[in-house]
Amino acid sequence: MKIVRLAEIAGDILERRSKPVKPRTGEGNATKYFGEAKFKVTDQCTRCGTCAGGCPAGNIAVDDSVKFGNACENCFACVNLCPAHAIYSSRAILKRRQYRNPVISVNEIAAVNERRENLSQP
Ligand code: SF4
Ligand code: SF4
Repeated sequence: MKIVRLAEIAGDILERRSKPVKPRTGEGNATKYFGEAKFKVTDQCTRCGTCAGGCPAGNIAVDDSVKFGNACENCFACVNLCPAHAIYSSRAILKRRQYRNPVISVNEIAAVNERRENLSQP
C-alpha cells in the first residue's frame, strides 16, 4: 500500500473523521482507501450461491458462472465465506486461511443482506 494512503488513514483515525458506509453504493470506506477489488473464481467453484448471499452490496450474481458487478465494498466476505475457497483477487489469497465468525451462519448473514433464505451451506 502506498505510504500516502496510510497517512490519510492514520489522519482520519487521529482526527476521528468518519464517513457513513452506504451499502450498495460501491463507495464504502474500504473502497475509498484501497480501490475496488477485482475478483475471479477458480474451477473449484460449485456455483452454490453462498458468495451472492453473503455479499452485503448485492454485487455478485451466480447462474452458469459467478459474476461480480461494480458495487464492491471490499469486505472480502465472499472470499471468506466461499466453501470451495474459490474466490480470489490475487493468487496469494488462495493460500491464505479463510475466516468466518463461528457463531453466525451463512443463512443469517444472507438474511441480514436480504438476499435469500436457503443457501446450500448451513
Ligand atoms: S461461494 Fe464459492 S463455490 Fe459458491 S458460487 Fe460463490 S465462488 Fe462458487
Ligand atoms: S468483497 Fe465480495 S462480498 Fe464484499 S462487497 Fe465485494 S463482492 Fe461483495
